[in-house]
Amino acid sequence: MPTVQAITRDPSPTTTTLGYALFATRWLQAPLYFGLVAAQGVYVYKFFNELWTLVLRCVTGQATETYVMLAVLKLVDVVMIANLLIMVIVGGYETFVSRIGLQGHRDQPEWLSHVNSNVLKVKLATAIVGISSVHLLQMFVDVHHTSRHSLLWGTVIHMAFIASAAILAYMSGPMAAHAERGDRHTHREHAPDEPAEKAFIPAQVTTREDEPSAEERLRAAGFPARKLLEDFDSEHPRSFDREAVARLGKLDFVAARRNVVFVGPPGTGKTHLAVGLGVRAWQAGHSVLFATAEEWAGRLAGARDAGRLAEELAALDEHAVLIVDEVGYTPFDADTTALFFQLVAHRYERASLIVTGDRPLDRWDEIFGGPAALAMVDRLAHHAEVVRIDGDSYRMRRATSAWAD
Ligand code: ADP
Ligand code: MG
Repeated sequence: MPTVQAITRDPSPTTTTLGYALFATRWLQAPLYFGLVAAQGVYVYKFFNELWTLVLRCVTGQATETYVMLAVLKLVDVVMIANLLIMVIVGGYETFVSRIGLQGHRDQPEWLSHVNSNVLKVKLATAIVGISSVHLLQMFVDVHHTSRHSLLWGTVIHMAFIASAAILAYMSGPMAAHAERGDRHTHREHAPDEPAEKAFIPAQVTTREDEPSAEERLRAAGFPARKLLEDFDSEHPRSFDREAVARLGKLDFVAARRNVVFVGPPGTGKTHLAVGLGVRAWQAGHSVLFATAEEWAGRLAGARDAGRLAEELAALDEHAVLIVDEVGYTPFDADTTALFFQLVAHRYERASLIVTGDRPLDRWDEIFGGPAALAMVDRLAHHAEVVRIDGDSYRMRRATSAWAD
């Protein structure tokens, strides 16, 4: 498959060296972030100082209710500023200096996986709004000691912060879309590769308007729709291992080359979760390819018939995650089962599979025929997190509530 780099002209060596030299100057920023870490230390000191004073006053009976409330607000204020600092330190360093490589770290903050300078600006603006509202609240709590002048300006300034955060958030929409389109050229190797029949890399340079949107690129990875883990209502299933899914969402399984199997009745959100994990892995720069079990069967059978099954399996190695959706809706004969065995055995401890199925693994002999069935399920399950979902169909719930309305 041609890469974008292959069809764009290489810049001259001098230009490249100059550019690299300039780019290297970003390391000058690194000490600044460590300076901010020192500032963080100052805030920790300030926090405990305030806390100590509060405790002392309470113990000696000098604390009025208003005093306690103001002191607590002050503590909240300090914590919020410290949070803001951490966001600037980690987010700024990751965006402008160097990747920290927290991918898969159990404490990786949710927001860091999709942070860029736009997101960071909006995050900071909202953090500032949070801080300014605490300040305003402090003024109102202590209204008898606050002049009308400060109160008025406090409110006006707070409104100005809200307005600027709203404007930034609004602007970051189109800017993010624009940046993402630009990213296509620089991060091409990170985007999920498409099945050959769906490849869309233009043979020649096209205009911006012709370029596929992020949504279209996601579809090109084979995802049937954009489903996010964040949109999954974990209250809906009757039983479901919320923690397992939260853990999977940190993508450790991709680095560990483990598999994930979602099993449960129709409509309980198995495809939603598989796509949600896939999208998250895709956002983190992993290559992902989605297809239903039936589509995989067709694809592998095609390769086998053409005598290039081994090549096809090797080519699939470039995808860190393959999703096999809807196992169970079609029974597979011995030959097709052997193909699935090849796929699972080939990826065993090499790369991840996410599989969804309508029944527990110990009943997969009802779906897969022939001698390879047992070995296939055994390999799949060996390094797998099996998540069982039980409950009523979400589709039915929506239909019944619409009917009730
Ligand atoms: P399954 O693959 O288990 O048959 P799907 O993932 O296709 O089910 O879910 C059917 C529809 O219901 C999808 O649109 C999905 O987004 C939605 N859905 C299912 N469960 C949930 C849930 N718990 N929260 C939000 N949406 C859900
Ligand atoms: Mg499904």
